Amino acid sequence: MAQQRRMGGQPMFIMSEDSQRTQGRDAQSSNIMAGKAVAEAVRTTLGPRGMDKMLVDSGGEVVITNDGATILNEMDIEHPAAQMIVEVADSQEEEVGDGTTTAAVIAGNLLGEAEDLIEQDVHATTIVEGYHEASEIALEAITEQVNEADVDDEILKQVGKSSMTGKGTGGLTAESLAETVVEAIRHVETDAGVARDNVTVHTQIGASSNATELVPGIVLDEEPSHDSMPQAVEDASIAVLDVELGVRTGDIDAEYAIDSIDQLNTAIDAEESEVRGYAEEVAESGADVVFTTEDVDDRVSSYLAGEGILVFENIGNSDARDIVSATGARRVGALEDLEEADFGAADRIRAENFGDDDLAFIEGGAAAETVTVFVRGGTEHVVDELERAIGDALDVVATALASGEVVPGAGATEIAIADKIREEAAGIEGRKQLAVTAFADAIDIVPRTLAANTGQDPIDALVDLRAAHESEGRAGLITTGEDVTIADPFEHGVVDPADVKREAIESATEAATMIVRIDDVIAAE
Ligand code: ADP
Ligand code: MG
Repeated sequence: MAQQRRMGGQPMFIMSEDSQRTQGRDAQSSNIMAGKAVAEAVRTTLGPRGMDKMLVDSGGEVVITNDGATILNEMDIEHPAAQMIVEVADSQEEEVGDGTTTAAVIAGNLLGEAEDLIEQDVHATTIVEGYHEASEIALEAITEQVNEADVDDEILKQVGKSSMTGKGTGGLTAESLAETVVEAIRHVETDAGVARDNVTVHTQIGASSNATELVPGIVLDEEPSHDSMPQAVEDASIAVLDVELGVRTGDIDAEYAIDSIDQLNTAIDAEESEVRGYAEEVAESGADVVFTTEDVDDRVSSYLAGEGILVFENIGNSDARDIVSATGARRVGALEDLEEADFGAADRIRAENFGDDDLAFIEGGAAAETVTVFVRGGTEHVVDELERAIGDALDVVATALASGEVVPGAGATEIAIADKIREEAAGIEGRKQLAVTAFADAIDIVPRTLAANTGQDPIDALVDLRAAHESEGRAGLITTGEDVTIADPFEHGVVDPADVKREAIESATEAATMIVRIDDVIAAE
């Protein structure tokens, strides 16, 4: 990203001494055009009837998605102003996890409106001031739209479902996925707040998306060290070791001078008994599941299998850490130090094979609240898009639960925002009023796009929505199955977290005003 400096109040981009320079209106309009173009690229994906994009990179990798942030990031955008719109989507994704298309589309339209204002000789600083004032009014309007009822499971489910409607959920209904998502978030709710990070998503190709389920624990890419070990252990006592269970590599140096069969047998016996010693030590410790970051000799595995002990060898360091934090086990570096106090506990540990992949499920760990949404789908594209949709849904449900504030979706909040801004614009003096009104016009892009993407006439829809907003208060363009109707989104379960709308307004305003203020671009050759 270019380095940014402020000179005389105007930000400008400085890239290199030996550079190409664009100034004044040319710089402004080229930046505005680039920003608009980027927003335009995601417009058709907005809403429940939004279309997907197929993105193919130079290596032929294909991503099919409906997710604004993903599209913009895959597009490999170079223009610095366009890049700023990508950052809008990124910060939206990071802060609240959803509303990326909305934010990008609003930012693009704020730029489009600014372009018209500049043509009418409204100065960039006036536009910036007007946009900032309008965005303050917009935030007030959002707060006025916040629901009065408590955010309960039903509303959370609606929030999750609204965020997934129109996403490729692989034949699985957004409804049933939303239930899983709410269950997951409820699991990680504590007095201190919602520990969103304690919900993990693990994808596994090979079954229909209907097999997607909530695992009350963690899922790891690990397999048992021996086929005849139990595939599941209930009420497991778990040892986590950094110990090699076999003839220690160091011992090999102690070469045997073998010149008779007897000596060979003695050597083999010595090794056998060493190995058996490890196995017995483990078995006697009382652990019934063992994870070790080191090798386990086949003979040890076989002996432990016979004892009904489930062993995982060569586990990754981060998996070892996850097991420790889920089960409360203490990692042990030498077998002789292993005692019962080091054991972790879990309701159930099971190993399962999925074609090429082997997974270990650790459920009901004694120490952690971590849960995993185990996402299934027939192909990589399906599980990838499902993972993104579920990630968004987890974020919005967590956001809504944490703040307790939701607003009507389906364009209703945007209609209310634009209406309030227009009302208050009347009291604003001079040309700034033009900029404030232009902001309201830019917000109309959301209901207009929802209309266009459902095959409606955007102008007619806007007129009808405004009329319904006037008479009924809340009015959105609700899509249910094949039908599109104007109604109260709260009554149809189309709800978004208030914070998603706030963030979209704030980040779009910030990017658009920043781009508008630039009147000098100095670019390296
Ligand atoms: P974003 O990346 O901005 O979240 P989406 O494609 O997810 O874009 O679309 C979100 C918009 O779709 C929100 O304004 C939301 O209220 C709206 N929406 C969700 N479900 C429905 C529905 N059933 N009818 C109409 N609008 C809906
Ligand atoms: Mg969304």
